[in-house]
Amino acid sequence: MKKISIFGATGSIGQNTIDLIRRAPEDYDIVALSGGRNIARLAADARDLRAQVAVTAYPELLDDLRAALAGSDVEAAAGPQAIAEAANRPADWVMSAIVGAAGLVPGLQALKQGATLALANKESLVCAGDLLMTTARAHNARILPVDSEHSAIFQALIGEDISEVERIIITASGGAFRDWPLEDLRDATVAQASSHPNWDMGQRITIDSASMFNKALEVIEAKEFFGVSPDQIEVLVHPQSIVHALVGFRDGALMSHLGAPDMRHAIGYALHWPKRRDLPVDRLDLAALGQLSFVAPDPARYPALGLAWDVMNRGGLAGAVFNGAKERALDHFIAGRIGFLDMARVVEQALTSADRQAGLLDQDMTLETVLDADHLARQETDRIVAAGV
Ligand code: NDP
Ligand code: MG
Repeated sequence: MKKISIFGATGSIGQNTIDLIRRAPEDYDIVALSGGRNIARLAADARDLRAQVAVTAYPELLDDLRAALAGSDVEAAAGPQAIAEAANRPADWVMSAIVGAAGLVPGLQALKQGATLALANKESLVCAGDLLMTTARAHNARILPVDSEHSAIFQALIGEDISEVERIIITASGGAFRDWPLEDLRDATVAQASSHPNWDMGQRITIDSASMFNKALEVIEAKEFFGVSPDQIEVLVHPQSIVHALVGFRDGALMSHLGAPDMRHAIGYALHWPKRRDLPVDRLDLAALGQLSFVAPDPARYPALGLAWDVMNRGGLAGAVFNGAKERALDHFIAGRIGFLDMARVVEQALTSADRQAGLLDQDMTLETVLDADHLARQETDRIVAAGV
């Protein structure tokens, strides 16, 4: 039996992971499940899967969680520290599917106890790529990508030598506003940005897909995970979301990965790796699809995308600042304090102002400096928004 923990179990990726596990419960022994505000979901899944422990991120919800687990053998716990402790419990395979920088610490803890980390939480690689990769190596632990594009790249690289890779092409659906007139984007609402044409995901990543902040994070994620240089990475808009990524080799060959837009493929691939098992995803009917199209992203429509290269070329703690500022700018957009296009402007300003603070971005990368940079970026973003964009 494989010992498994799922962090972010109540979210979109967490629930897709649980869906796969429920299809073969005899294969898995559930150690920890974590969630946030959705106590009913967390408790129901923890009971049903007979988890050792269920943890909510919010201490004020501990009593509710205890009440929801009453009469079961599942332990209840709460708070970020309790999530980190749950990630210390020995497990063979750990799903990192908390949204945002809050996923970093549990991911590091899981790697320290030697688990295989299935990484959906791209924010941890963006904030602390070096730290995550060196922790994995030091503890003989493995990270498997769950982001669909990175799973696609990983699969296209099987049996290949990374030194023979010339370029990596990540596709993007173009998000909710791909076909909107440019002048309407300024007034795009939260509700409009929260519906994705192809993928069913959490609200935050769905809005990040409309702005392409998600793609910017993924470009940085690809650099950190595969160790390629910024100028080897390209982004291509592909409205059908069938080709998830392509890898180009020195001889001009391109290997691509195609599949239905269903996260259970990438999650299942990471769950069963290095084997493949049957998965409940639609099989592609290419004749019915008829055609696949590709177009270069328009920088005027997606100002956030170009920031990825600024961040990668800057290096050091710029990723942590970028992610922290992006998370706060998104909070401000969701709260109606700034417009859709303001998010990229605010984040760019936060990056510039962090860069001006002598030595800030050039400190050694430790968990402490990453968390400090994240904190400063959030404060700076609040300041910029309060001053009026
Ligand atoms: P959701 O918003 O659906 O779920 C997020 C999960 O994290 C929930 O379990 C939520 O709890 C929990 N959570 C929220 N805030 C905190 C916090 N501060 N501390 C601890 N836990 C918290 O997100 P998704 O499932 O869409 O995304 C999860 C991660 O996977 C993200 O990093 C995203 O970028 C990545 N990803 C997602 C894809 C998708 O298809 N959804 C595709 C590729 C990557 P609760 O809901 O109970 O409050
Ligand atoms: Mg993705």
